[in-house]
Amino acid sequence: MESTLRSCRRCLLPATVPGLTIAESGLCDICLVTPPEAELAQQRAEIRHELERIVATHRDVEPYACVVAFSGGKDSSYTLKLLVERFQLRCIAVTIDNGFLSKGTAENCKAVCGSLGVDHLMFTPNQQFVRKMYGISAVQEDMHAPAAIQRASSICNSCISLINTHILQKALELGAPLVAGGYLGGQLPRDAATMSIRPGQQARPRAALIKRFVRAFGDAARPYFSLGRSDADADREITVINPMLGFAVLEDEILHDIAQLGWKRPRDTGLTSTNCRLNDLGVYIHHRRHGFHAYAFEIADQLRHGLISREDATRKLNTLPEQTDIQWLADKIGVSTDVL
Ligand SMILES: [Zn+2]
Repeated sequence: MESTLRSCRRCLLPATVPGLTIAESGLCDICLVTPPEAELAQQRAEIRHELERIVATHRDVEPYACVVAFSGGKDSSYTLKLLVERFQLRCIAVTIDNGFLSKGTAENCKAVCGSLGVDHLMFTPNQQFVRKMYGISAVQEDMHAPAAIQRASSICNSCISLINTHILQKALELGAPLVAGGYLGGQLPRDAATMSIRPGQQARPRAALIKRFVRAFGDAARPYFSLGRSDADADREITVINPMLGFAVLEDEILHDIAQLGWKRPRDTGLTSTNCRLNDLGVYIHHRRHGFHAYAFEIADQLRHGLISREDATRKLNTLPEQTDIQWLADKIGVSTDVL
């Protein structure tokens, strides 16, 4: 499927993004307020400085200073390498098996954790529940904030919420003060590079989130989205870090560096994911529903930061899954492609 929409000449965000205007100059609103490269570099330096400060206070925590959301894909593999080698943190990597992991992902997890000397946990949530969650997310997206839906498909957002909650649950259980994600710019706001949270004091927003997900996915959702905190956790502070936002690393460089750890690119995950086969279905549905690629914001951010070539970006944005590619995925989660 080819896309020939009018889009920003710098970041390629298309005019179909709600609320986005493309000026006469050919630049979108976001590019117009994006600072020049020197200032972006300065912002990244500030993020790295803040990361160093946070990490320095937790370096000696045992048994783990940091629980890492480790999908086994390229970005979280690189993030784990950064945390272990550059930041010298005691990490435990946690992978959620959603039933759609690429065949190579388990081996990639083993290779990367083995090379870095990191403990690894694989958590497989009840597959009946997970498929139901994906099936509902395929046809409905009002359980997520509209801003989140711009940055990723509804299916991915449900999965990300489950993963983020599980990582927090693990941090509470293991007494780790830090949790890390491998998110890139464009997948979340830049101010999400470091965030301090107190789960015990955020009972109200958490209850609202649980309510939304229980309403959408049924009572079985509760354990996957609640923190089940004890009184001892009430004052705990957990710092969420997304270190990639402080670094400008080319995709080729990431692939090169993790190849040294034994990571190999899976062949069955479509163009935009390096670990999950369901991703293509999310991309397909998101494009049909909204008229733009679910990765448009991530790719736009990488273009603005000079981290991807225009050619690669265009190729990613224009290569959309066909219905025949995603039919088997829709069948697996019990959704008819007629309703998508
Ligand atoms: Zn733009």
